Amino acid sequence: MVRLDQCLDSDEQMEVHRITAAELQSHPAFLFHHLMWTTIDWIFPPVCGGCDRPGLRWCLKCQQQTTILKDAVCQSCGCPLPKAGICQECQSIPPLYRALRSWGTYSGPLRNAIHRLKYKNDMGLGEALGHHLIQVYEQTQWQADLIVPVPLSSQRLRERGYNQASLLARPVALYFKIPFSTRALKRVRHTEAQVGLKASDRIQNVHNAFEANPTFVANKTILVVDDVATTGSTLHECTRALLDAGAKSVYGLTLARATFSDEILSQVSPIPEENQS
Ligand SMILES: [Zn+2]
Ligand SMILES: [Zn+2]
Repeated sequence: MVRLDQCLDSDEQMEVHRITAAELQSHPAFLFHHLMWTTIDWIFPPVCGGCDRPGLRWCLKCQQQTTILKDAVCQSCGCPLPKAGICQECQSIPPLYRALRSWGTYSGPLRNAIHRLKYKNDMGLGEALGHHLIQVYEQTQWQADLIVPVPLSSQRLRERGYNQASLLARPVALYFKIPFSTRALKRVRHTEAQVGLKASDRIQNVHNAFEANPTFVANKTILVVDDVATTGSTLHECTRALLDAGAKSVYGLTLARATFSDEILSQVSPIPEENQS
């Protein structure tokens, strides 16, 4: 269990994010990054991304209300299953990536928080939510050499001003001291939103949308980070680009796992943009 941020925040947050003094000393870059965001919180007091309660970026109550994905998932694509195994989709068409895992289901406060991170310029939420990715990664046996966020198209990046996947991925890279690159993988064409598309159309929508740079990825095990996964088709295509550029293997990590029904609910409010990102 990762224990983060002890002594840094309010009593409530201490219960959730705990780290010993010794652990903090061994993660100086992670600590510096966290302190930077904590300082920003002092200047611009945050509200919770899940419930709008003032005081914290991501409160304990919202974390407790999130449905955490544990062992009962597909060992390949990470989709929820009654018990651990390989889902039918992965049995019929095995993904190119080695495995995909997510922290929680795309619902309730977590969906609100991701919406806020992506569309409300709440960049500090990336750092707070990124701690959960640390927890998930620590439970795997993956040995990543490089962490890359799922890239935005240049058009989307210009509009939003930041890549939410980078904000989520950076704490993971700093905590585990794994190199991080936003140049290793590029989105070479703007794609339509995946929301509302059938699984087969999603694959087509992102087909050949990415390009990787062999200088960064050749012979390396890559961890690709994103905010939400639904069918895993974006990670599948990122993996294709990375393997074409000589990567050894690819794993995926997302904060949330959505289902088609989650997306239908989200189309009322708020509207997600999985993989449009
Ligand atoms: Zn909250
Ligand atoms: Zn699967």
